[in-house]
Amino acid sequence: RFSFASASSKLPAEILAAISADVIAWQASGMSALELPFTGKDFADILAQAEHELRAVLELPECYRILFLQGGASTQFTTLPMNLAGEARPCDYVLSGHWSRRAIEAASGWCDVRVIASGSNGSLPEPASWRRSSDAAYCHYTSNETAEGLQYHEYPEASDVPLIADMTADFLTRPIPIERFGLVYASAQKNLGAAGLTIVIVHEDLLGQAKHATPASLDYARQAAAGSKVNTPPTFAILVALRMLTWLRAQGGLDAAAARNIAKSAKLYAVIDADNFYRCLAAPRYRSSVSVCFRLPQPELDLLFLQEAQENGLCHLQGHPAVGGIRASLYNGVTDEAVTALADFMSDFKRRRG
Ligand code: PLP
Repeated sequence: RFSFASASSKLPAEILAAISADVIAWQASGMSALELPFTGKDFADILAQAEHELRAVLELPECYRILFLQGGASTQFTTLPMNLAGEARPCDYVLSGHWSRRAIEAASGWCDVRVIASGSNGSLPEPASWRRSSDAAYCHYTSNETAEGLQYHEYPEASDVPLIADMTADFLTRPIPIERFGLVYASAQKNLGAAGLTIVIVHEDLLGQAKHATPASLDYARQAAAGSKVNTPPTFAILVALRMLTWLRAQGGLDAAAARNIAKSAKLYAVIDADNFYRCLAAPRYRSSVSVCFRLPQPELDLLFLQEAQENGLCHLQGHPAVGGIRASLYNGVTDEAVTALADFMSDFKRRRG
């Protein structure tokens, strides 16, 4: 069976086997990986290796800190202004779809949000059209709008105002010019393994500005100083991330991942574009290589498509509830075999129902 879930990673078979062995016993510790205390040497080694692998895969300069946190990207929506907006600075936000709207709504309670650009009708506002302020604490955008299947294929330029990206859906699916960013964040459950871990990569110049009442566990500077151990980090999810990172590097790193994801998505877009049966609302230049969203000619066919796909072992294809339709998430762990099976099923369904 193949999973195309948006809300969870697909784990390669060799990683599942390795994790299963880790659950029984973590190396020479004689203990399950689930039993390791976050204060002990075994977990310290796992965390150090995960950081080493992530730095290597991203070619991350020393001036960036990596935080291994709990709470998901949604918690970052408020943690960001708590840490970076100071007591009264405006913050620039790009409104490009469902997740950037959620980020804006959450930040509004903590800072003066300025919406500097909005997208519409399956397109994203181009970075050149963003009305970036010079006095903002930061400029936030969402690199892949997971619900609508829209992705920025080019990265915005840096400016004096720190650029921040919610990269939850496309983190580690392609190279990142990290030096353009003040901070990027991503939940782990798409490309980095298990839910429960949130990665924050922050330039050290941005640390130490948290609002007075920021809880210690949400204070970037305190988490950086404590090696992400102000409170218990998601230990098991960090081990899974380590396994995923080692695998990703062995697969050729981010350039190879990008090529694979473009090729996988192109297979589905080719079926969609073959005629007018399937419809993709995203304009071609913004179509995501990790969230392929499309619709059938009548909404009533959606249920039939999902039911038959499930019967054919193609699972978790329903679109985001806010948008509807069909969505195939093609994160790093989704194989060519899975995508070919889905493309074949789509062609067959069209032949029978079109
Ligand atoms: N941002 C984006 C782009 C997402 O795709 C998601 C979840 O799908 C989130 C944020 C929310 O992540 P979490 O549920 O881990 O908080």
